[in-house]
Amino acid sequence: SAEIISGTDMRTAILEELASEVEAMKAKHGKVPGLVTILVGENPASVSYVTLKVKTALKLGFHEIQDSQPESISEEELLALIERYNQDPDIHGILVQLPLPKHINEEKVIYAINPDKDVDGFHPVNLGRMVIGGDNGGFLPCTPAGIQEMIVRSGTETSGAEVVVVGRSNIVGKPISVMMGQKGRGANSTVTMVHTRTHDIAEHCKRADILIVAAGVPGLVKPDWIKPGATVIDVGVNRVGTSTTGKAILSGDVDFAEACKVAGKITPVPGGVGPMTIAMLMKNTVKSAWMHLERTMADTLPR
Ligand code: NAD
Repeated sequence: SAEIISGTDMRTAILEELASEVEAMKAKHGKVPGLVTILVGENPASVSYVTLKVKTALKLGFHEIQDSQPESISEEELLALIERYNQDPDIHGILVQLPLPKHINEEKVIYAINPDKDVDGFHPVNLGRMVIGGDNGGFLPCTPAGIQEMIVRSGTETSGAEVVVVGRSNIVGKPISVMMGQKGRGANSTVTMVHTRTHDIAEHCKRADILIVAAGVPGLVKPDWIKPGATVIDVGVNRVGTSTTGKAILSGDVDFAEACKVAGKITPVPGGVGPMTIAMLMKNTVKSAWMHLERTMADTLPR
């Protein structure tokens, strides 16, 4: 039976590593990472995501601002708010929780964030840096970064491995496909990206040493699509029912119970990729703080 890759345990380990970095930063600069989470309106899913991000940031000792704005905020006002945080030296990460109300252009909002504070990694400058690769000061989008980190920490060899990614969205499928094919740690793979127009998805999946599924279709991947011993990363989060206590019952894109009999390693849903996404957001914020603080130091040195 497959080894379960626990995103929850990995998150704990990463947050411990980050907490000691925050201590080191305090000792060296007398500063901590600053993160602002901007929430527009009261969409229950968004509220619960933001609450979790705020809680995690506070636990790590960040300077955290939770900026809640009414649904009625104008696009102009939101852009002005972002500009204020762009200029704030104590803020290193700006996160605008999506989706935004219909009267606000999401693209405009993402473009307005200073790319050097875009810890979500959604700004085209950061997507460009990701495509170029190497350590170029960019921020990787959090879910793909979390997927790659899980693969590395699970001890799965990626160099030369056949990776098949199901899905081609801008926030998961496309970026993780690029990242796995890059040079460097946790990459150097041979990548195939499949989607709704692919002729025979099962045939592609069967070749995968590492199968990454981000389609949003419960039970899409059947056990006979999985190569025996493969590492399976299930990104899907699908609401498949409601418990007697009214809580959502979640399921991934993979038939988990059956897949466990074939796969070598597999991530559960929940408790897999989800927790890693938050850990990577925190990691990006710490990275941003280091970059801003050390750059500020360099700027104030006598020339
Ligand atoms: P999306 O709907 O934007 O993209 C889904 C992609 O899958 C599309 O590119 C589509 O071509 C492909 N696809 C859909 N049905 C398919 C099928 N039957 N066969 C082959 N390909 C198919 O979704 P997304 O934003 O990439 O998210 C995908 C899933 O991952 C969702 O369930 C989402 O909730 C989840 N997700 C989880 C996290 C996390 O942190 N755990 C983060 C982001 C997304």
